[in-house]
Amino acid sequence: MRLVFLGPPGAGKGTQADLLSEKTGLPHISPGDMFRRAVKEGSELGRKVKEYMDGGLLVPDDVTVGVIRERMLEPDCAAGFILDGFPRNMRQAEALDVMMSEAGVRLDAAVNFEVPFDILVERSVGRRVCRGCGATYHLRHNPPRAEGICDECGGELVQRDDDREETVKERLSVYSRETRPLVEYYREKGILVSVNGDQALDAVAAELASVLRDLAERPR
Ligand code: ADP
Ligand code: ADP
Ligand code: ZN
Repeated sequence: MRLVFLGPPGAGKGTQADLLSEKTGLPHISPGDMFRRAVKEGSELGRKVKEYMDGGLLVPDDVTVGVIRERMLEPDCAAGFILDGFPRNMRQAEALDVMMSEAGVRLDAAVNFEVPFDILVERSVGRRVCRGCGATYHLRHNPPRAEGICDECGGELVQRDDDREETVKERLSVYSRETRPLVEYYREKGILVSVNGDQALDAVAAELASVLRDLAERPR
């Protein structure tokens, strides 16, 4: 399956993409994760993107599209993928359409995770990520077994630099301006499906699984 996950920062896209990837084997492709890794490694890409990420702004399209285009050519994407956090504006959506048609394939669905705006700040500010493996937790809603320590790898849990309240607010306004229009874009293409992201983690996962099952059974 070829899936795009849409939704504001903090909606739960990354969490659900991790769970679905574990369940299905589909690769979870997140430009945010790829950029954070590059920053940590101090690579040339990392130097290019850091300033934008710290400011809560989108990394320029030529950089982001280049990284995604390259990633999508890896053999593990041939049978499908979960694109989490791409596209994030109209130009990226059009670039993705071009990539898909060049490969002679098409997206199966754009899954929109719907969450009321007023809970999103708390979702992101309470987020903690593993310095080692990148696993995501929440101080209240999805705490690790031992405080500050990753269940998966024993790594240290830290707050992302861009998860401070002011930057989260900036990212939410970037979302409203640049990313939200994609909901209509995919609705018009007839591939938009919605999942209520304002439920417990496993209830969201169950709804997602059921939506994807319906999709697989739908004639096209
Ligand atoms: P969240 O889902 O909480 O917004 P991400 O990890 O997806 O966090 O993104 C973190 C940052 O990485 C963004 O604020 C932006 O600077 C950069 N980024 C991620 N995806 C994209 C994208 N598709 N286009 C441009 N910048 C991106
Ligand atoms: P996104 O990738 O959309 O930015 P994440 O998956 O990183 O979102 O989730 C944002 C924060 O909210 C994380 O701290 C995560 O543990 C938490 N979270 C994810 N799903 C839920 C949920 N259904 N209920 C409560 N908190 C959640
Ligand atoms: Zn870890």
